[in-house]
Amino acid sequence: QQLHNQLNVIFLPFPTPGHMIPMIDTARLFAKHGANVTIITTHANASTFQKSIDNDFNSGHPIKTQLIQFPSAQVGLPDGVENLKDATSPEIISKISRGISMLQDHIENLFQDLEPDCIVTDMCYPWTVESAAKLGIPRLYFYSSSYFSNCASYFVRNYRPHDSLVSDTQKFTIPCLPHTIEMTPFQLADWIRVKNSATSVFDVIFESEKRSYGTIYNSFHELESDYEKLGRTTIGIKSWSVGPVSAFTNNDDEKKDNKGHIGKEAEWLNWLNSKENESVLYVSFGSLTRLSHAQIVELAYGLENSSQNFIWVIRKKDKDEDGESFLEDFEERMKESKKGYIIWNWAPQILILDHPAIGGIVTHCGWNSILESLNVSLPMITWPMFAEQFYNEKLLVDVLKIGVPVGAKVNKFWLNTVEEEVVKREEIVKAVEILMGNGQEGKKMRMRARKFGDAAKRTIEKGGYSYNNLIQLLDELTSLKIARELEKSR
Ligand code: UDP
Repeated sequence: QQLHNQLNVIFLPFPTPGHMIPMIDTARLFAKHGANVTIITTHANASTFQKSIDNDFNSGHPIKTQLIQFPSAQVGLPDGVENLKDATSPEIISKISRGISMLQDHIENLFQDLEPDCIVTDMCYPWTVESAAKLGIPRLYFYSSSYFSNCASYFVRNYRPHDSLVSDTQKFTIPCLPHTIEMTPFQLADWIRVKNSATSVFDVIFESEKRSYGTIYNSFHELESDYEKLGRTTIGIKSWSVGPVSAFTNNDDEKKDNKGHIGKEAEWLNWLNSKENESVLYVSFGSLTRLSHAQIVELAYGLENSSQNFIWVIRKKDKDEDGESFLEDFEERMKESKKGYIIWNWAPQILILDHPAIGGIVTHCGWNSILESLNVSLPMITWPMFAEQFYNEKLLVDVLKIGVPVGAKVNKFWLNTVEEEVVKREEIVKAVEILMGNGQEGKKMRMRARKFGDAAKRTIEKGGYSYNNLIQLLDELTSLKIARELEKSR
């Protein structure tokens, strides 16, 4: 630890919860191992994690936050919505991206003033390759998803096996992977399936990874070692898996404030306390996904018709006009039968998953939700929605065999050319019965999930793979700093 306390590291996160949360957790981990950490972000974003950082400060691991002013007016957004927890649509995301890129000069000036030894940046800031080069310091690329998805996406982008198919529903095999993984073009992100304006944006991002000093993954060796190896040779730069990073904050009281609604907490906790162990399904689609009214209806009946209890997190923006009275009636019915509990908008996910009554999760296959479930040994019903989530589903179902697919067929984000698919209630009931029922398949999955859960706990302890990777990384950054200083003094 002492060795690392000369090290100044800047973290530059991107403001969506799925990108921001693991990066802040990683920053806290660096600080716990002695590095001097500064996080550059806007006021609205800092407020989402400030309490956990203050808590770290009190326990002797201070982190600084360097606030920057988001140019809300210039991109036509109200003040304070640059934190994507509450405001989501492709238009808002692109306005936020535009706003953040307008801050490039300002952030580069901050880099100069803060004199870092290393910049850890979200994948969405490709220009930081040049910033780091100007300062003569390493740039680390923070990839907030799996090695598997990075490899799969690389081979699909580079070999384009889908181009030769006659239909978007026909299957192709992803080339060069150690497992046979089949997908359809409709399961790919639109900018990979057909080249569009986003394709070049992503090309620049992926190119910037190759020009980085290395990549940090919130993953762990025991989970996807084949793909860790493949990722390193394919991308051709160093990488360190240091996760699951959220485990470090699992029992942190402040996290309740950060992630959940304290006022509601007692209620959901009481509700869960009244249920038997491993009898409740947690249902959530992450921070960005929006379900159509038709899909909400099918999901509601699917959950109601299944044999399990459930906690369902419904984002308020899902409550369209048709949905309002349907969901009110549904919530009322669930209250009476005590079968289901609805949390509106934002749930203290890590705390809920940690409750012994939870036995499985319905997930959109966001990488953080997957890791947070694995941390507590939960098997999953996989229901990918957009981006790289369909790759993550393949990892869970075909490679790790701890996921039951609900049968999602279409990658929805920014995809206006296909009619929105609706997964039917029967499919949902079927998946719930396989995962949570008494059949052999479900039992085996639960056993395998337990094995990964145990590995997730071990890997971050002293001597574990992720623990050692982090120390190696910090040692290497320290050696680079010393070499730079020697060079300067010559
Ligand atoms: N999250 C949460 N409460 C919610 C929804 C999401 O705490 O109601 C957290 C979740 O624990 C995870 C992150 O937000 O850390 C979502 O990241 P993920 O990669 O799962 O999905 P994304 O939101 O990026 O699609």
